[in-house]
Amino acid sequence: MHSSVIQISKSALKNNIDIIKSLISKSVTLSSVIKGNAYGHSIAQMVPLLQEFNVNHFSVYSSFEAKKAFEVAKKDFTILIMGDINCNDEDWIIDNGIDFFVFNLARLKQMLSKAMKKKQVLNIHIEIETGMNRTGFNQKDWNDVIQLVKTHKEFIKVKGLCTHFAGAESLNNYVRVKQQQIVFNKAIKFFKSHEIIAEKIHCSCSASVLAFPTKNYDMVRVGILQYGLWPSRESFIKYISKYNIDKNPLKPVLSWKSYIMDVKLVSKGEFIGYGSSFLAENETKVASVPIGYGYGYSRSLSNLGRVIINNNRYSVIGTINMNMLLIDISSSDSIAINDEVILIGSSTDLDIPLSSFCNNTDQLNYEVLSRIDKDIPRIITI
Ligand SMILES: *Cc1c(COP(=O)(O)O)cnc(C)c1O
Repeated sequence: MHSSVIQISKSALKNNIDIIKSLISKSVTLSSVIKGNAYGHSIAQMVPLLQEFNVNHFSVYSSFEAKKAFEVAKKDFTILIMGDINCNDEDWIIDNGIDFFVFNLARLKQMLSKAMKKKQVLNIHIEIETGMNRTGFNQKDWNDVIQLVKTHKEFIKVKGLCTHFAGAESLNNYVRVKQQQIVFNKAIKFFKSHEIIAEKIHCSCSASVLAFPTKNYDMVRVGILQYGLWPSRESFIKYISKYNIDKNPLKPVLSWKSYIMDVKLVSKGEFIGYGSSFLAENETKVASVPIGYGYGYSRSLSNLGRVIINNNRYSVIGTINMNMLLIDISSSDSIAINDEVILIGSSTDLDIPLSSFCNNTDQLNYEVLSRIDKDIPRIITI
């Protein structure tokens, strides 16, 4: 048994998918972004669950993740690789009809020659460079892409024309994103005028679904919202003021729980844990929990983290260790070894939201989630 467990709430996921669907029109495909081990929720658990809610399009980062999704997906699904294809996975991608972003002509030609030998079709999404300057075809390359596609029509299916915005979650980037939209529009027109009709035009991540709802085109690639979290605090505040609601409509899908490993008394005047960051100013009852930064509980929560035990909140004291953290339970008479410790999630009356990790440290919720140890078992709850 692992020293902690991750719970995945099915009803929370359903709630969030319903909200996302209400934000996009019926004709728009929802591609569920499950990169980073489904933002820490586990690809193996999330894909079948999402399929139960009629989500059958999955976007991953790499061919490695595509294989993980492929293993668990049930019929009528599409897997789209938005980033890295390891050279050794090219045949697998072609043989299994996996969709993928193309952003490099030499690579496309290499895969095309393989596909031609196999008499198979490449399912490509042409990624346009619009200003993020990460990957994507610059305008000067558009013609070459078009010529290649046109001369190999029977081996290339243009499943998508797409781009990604450089920070739609913050008004700070508004001008830049607007400029990206102009370039993307230009690309759409250009490819169309050269008779390259992509099956799906797509550019929206969670933040752009919220900020630019009229610019979803044929598909949206949504990650963070489906897990019940906001792309940024700003996008949350904008949403609740726009719809005039006072409660967060999203429900976090993930909870993280461990247990008390040991309890002991520490005398007044002693330091607790490594170094001298926590001094017991009084006699202190210390409980140890078998969770540390090695499992993704960030070291920057040293002396800052909070946990819930028996419906009460307690503070993390001292530095977070690789496999252990300590909490001050002096105020409790009843806590015993093996009692449940909620690291992320809620009890009857209290809540430790993942966002509290981000308020106390400079981590993104994306970062906290994707760093949670893959070996911790994920269990589906209602
Ligand atoms: C991660 C990612 C998304 C999803 O982003 P969210 O903010 O989680 O919705 C969409 N598109 C691309 C290319 C991405 O890398």
